[in-house]
Amino acid sequence: MTADVLVIGCGPAALAIASGLCAEGLQVDALAAVEPTAPWPNTYGVWGCELEPGGLGHLLQHRWTNCVSYFGAQPVAHHHTYGLFDKARLQTHWLEGCEQGGLRWQRGLAGAIAHHGQGSCVTTTAGAEHSARLVIDASGHRPVFVQRPSLGPIAYQAAYGVVGRFSTAPVEPGQFVLMDFRSDHLSSLERQAQPPTFLYAMDLGDGVFFVEETSLALAPAFPPERLKRRLQQRLAFRGVAIEAIEAEEDCLFPMNLPLPDLRQRVVGFGGAASMVHPASGYLVGSLLRRAPTVAKAIATALNVPGCGADQVAQAAWSAVWPAGLVRKHALYQFGLEKLMRFSEPQLRQFFAAFFDLPQHQWYGFLANTLTVPELTLAMLRLFAQAPNPVRGGLINPQGRELELLWRVLSR
Ligand SMILES: Cc1cc2nc3c(=O)[nH]c(=O)nc-3n(C[C@H](O)[C@H](O)[C@H](O)COP(=O)(O)OP(=O)(O)OC[C@H]3O[C@@H](n4cnc5c(N)ncnc54)[C@H](O)[C@@H]3O)c2cc1C
Repeated sequence: MTADVLVIGCGPAALAIASGLCAEGLQVDALAAVEPTAPWPNTYGVWGCELEPGGLGHLLQHRWTNCVSYFGAQPVAHHHTYGLFDKARLQTHWLEGCEQGGLRWQRGLAGAIAHHGQGSCVTTTAGAEHSARLVIDASGHRPVFVQRPSLGPIAYQAAYGVVGRFSTAPVEPGQFVLMDFRSDHLSSLERQAQPPTFLYAMDLGDGVFFVEETSLALAPAFPPERLKRRLQQRLAFRGVAIEAIEAEEDCLFPMNLPLPDLRQRVVGFGGAASMVHPASGYLVGSLLRRAPTVAKAIATALNVPGCGADQVAQAAWSAVWPAGLVRKHALYQFGLEKLMRFSEPQLRQFFAAFFDLPQHQWYGFLANTLTVPELTLAMLRLFAQAPNPVRGGLINPQGRELELLWRVLSR
């Protein structure tokens, strides 16, 4: 039996949309290159509030109320809960939804696709064929089928992190540090000549901590070996030695991917659809929030008698990237381009001003829950209350910023 939808992948995006589609009563097939229950390699963080509307707080393994950042010598308290997902529980949550909806797992690596009047047929590299009325490509940041235009250099978030035991606590007990931009461990030459990085760190309990040196976004990416050295320098300067490494994380993913071509027959979801928040790098909270809406739009289109495959794909793309989100994406990309040019002092002042915004504004900005007018207002307010060096940087257009601004205005 031809499926209503074939989902490619078994990462967070694939499972989120597949379980959403199953909840709509659709016949869903999924093509997985690996065992769908195989543990995910990454650790996923999220603001606690993002899970409240769906009552999904139980999916967190760790939760911190003592959340701070350093943009100067003194910590700035965020007064918001931050959490780390229990990734096995998150995976099971979605897999159970798939199972209840009768999802049929297929194993293989998608290799080619052909479209016909009634839908599409995916052929695996082993030659197996899988047909569906709609194909959703959730194969990650380098999608197997989704096409996107090339619009200039891609900026990457890069990080090197260690889960382990330390001679002394690298952060205060019970604390989560979103961004520690202190750079007194670097020489003035290093500070001036190299792009800024920050520490993302947390107490995981039982004497175990996670510390990660992070480059927010850079094109080309900040070299991994230099991130590792920076982390070692930072820890050594604070008199902290690594005593035992339990796990290491090398993180690299694109931040400013252009939007895919929204007219194509294959529909993307997650990294494949450029859904990573261009200003923060977060995705999983929005998958949880948005998958049910996108699934509903797809089910509605599929249930319209005589609705052709192209129209179904159009309805799906419109749900993945509605006009408001398209415009916000352009705004975020413009903002990120600005940040990538900021010097370290400008960046610190910028973030200090950003987290001085009213909570609902900075939180809504990061969680991508503001409307376009609300987001514009938050950005204007930030401009108004930022110190002059930041304002100067924001006004002065450089590189492709004017092009990006035009994209905001023309959306
Ligand atoms: C180290 C790291 C840390 C991150 N931390 C966070 C975080 O804290 N919070 C957050 O919200 N986001 C975070 N992100 C960003 C984002 O959430 C992740 O990149 C996320 O994994 C993207 O999910 P995805 O399902 O779109 O892609 P992926 O997780 O990359 O999954 C892609 C899936 O497609 C499959 N696949 C690929 N090609 C094929 C093919 N040809 N045929 C069949 N299957 C295929 C793969 O096997 C995999 O199952 C992080 C990213 C990284 C790299």
